[in-house]
Amino acid sequence: CGIVGYIGTQAATEILLAGLEKLEYRGYDSAGIATVWEGEVNCVRAKGKLHNLRSKLEQLENPAQIGIGHTRWATHGKPEEYNAHPHLDTAMRVAVVQNGIIENYRELREELKQKGHEFRSETDTEVIPHLIAEFLKNLPASSSSSPFLDAVRQAVNYLKGAFAIAVICADYPDELIVVRQQAPLVIGFGQGEFFCASDTPAIVAYTRAVLPLENGEIARLTPLGVEIYNFAGDRLKKQPRMLNLSP
Ligand code: GLU
Repeated sequence: CGIVGYIGTQAATEILLAGLEKLEYRGYDSAGIATVWEGEVNCVRAKGKLHNLRSKLEQLENPAQIGIGHTRWATHGKPEEYNAHPHLDTAMRVAVVQNGIIENYRELREELKQKGHEFRSETDTEVIPHLIAEFLKNLPASSSSSPFLDAVRQAVNYLKGAFAIAVICADYPDELIVVRQQAPLVIGFGQGEFFCASDTPAIVAYTRAVLPLENGEIARLTPLGVEIYNFAGDRLKKQPRMLNLSP
């Protein structure tokens, strides 16, 4: 029900948790965070309130500078930890958080199972990391400057429904990919650091330069900047605007 993401030079975990706390008003039944650190996806999830997630995370020393976080309002699958986001692919290289509903998840799930993907949850969301992993596996070597972006773009072209997603991958530790299709998502521009969230309260403590994504847009966030594309892969020219908030 709420998404946050961070890429930059600070430790991501606390920024993600603080952002999720600002999105609490949207309601949720579980929460989770995934980061990329030392070549691995590190994923921590907890049922119930955010302090359950916070106390799990406190036991870990995690200086990762890229991550995604989620508060879930269950639509498909019980409100249990195994259904909490982020969701991962079979090899646990790709992590996804999602708001909304993937309407054609049953068909996709069956197809992916036949290709050998192993599912761990009851959610509609879990098809997304598996689909992205499938495209990453089948991309021709050195086909583009960002194979990860290409794989996410191919995957979202298969998804039907209303969704906003944020994706990270252990093999591309300098890229955070976000997508908007009928569910809100804003990008925040800092100095050498970039944010994404379902709503601006999650990021205004860090920056007031924001760009709301439009439906059918994909953004690639790196520590160097933000690129926006449509689902066909054309680059779009967009600039952030300054939020004018009274103190
Ligand atoms: N449909 C997804 C699920 O049930 C996402 C729900 C949400 O927006 O929080 O896990």
